[in-house]
Amino acid sequence: MHDFLLAKEIVGEVLAVAKERGLSKVEKVSVEIGLIAMAHDGHEEHTEDISVENLQFGISAIAKGTLLEKTVFEIKKVTGDHWRLTELEGS
Ligand SMILES: [Zn+2]
Repeated sequence: MHDFLLAKEIVGEVLAVAKERGLSKVEKVSVEIGLIAMAHDGHEEHTEDISVENLQFGISAIAKGTLLEKTVFEIKKVTGDHWRLTELEGS
C-alpha cells in the first residue's frame, strides 16, 4: 500500500520541481527511501517496508502520460523514515 501512495507522492513532487525549474524533459531522478510512515484507509500512521520493485512499478504506472513517462528513476533504500529527492536531471 505504501509503495503506491509513495509513488504518487514522488511523481507529484518531481512534477512540481520540474515545473518550478521550467523543465520540458526529465532524464533521470534519484530518490532515497527509508521506512515510510503514513496513515491510510482508517489506519493510524505506521511504517511499512517498501520494495523497490513495487515502487518502480507504481511510479511507471502513475508517470504514464506525464512528462516523466520516460524518466529513469533510481531508487536507493536508506535507513530512516523519510524519502528524499537527491538528484533530478532534466532540460
Ligand atoms: Zn500501511
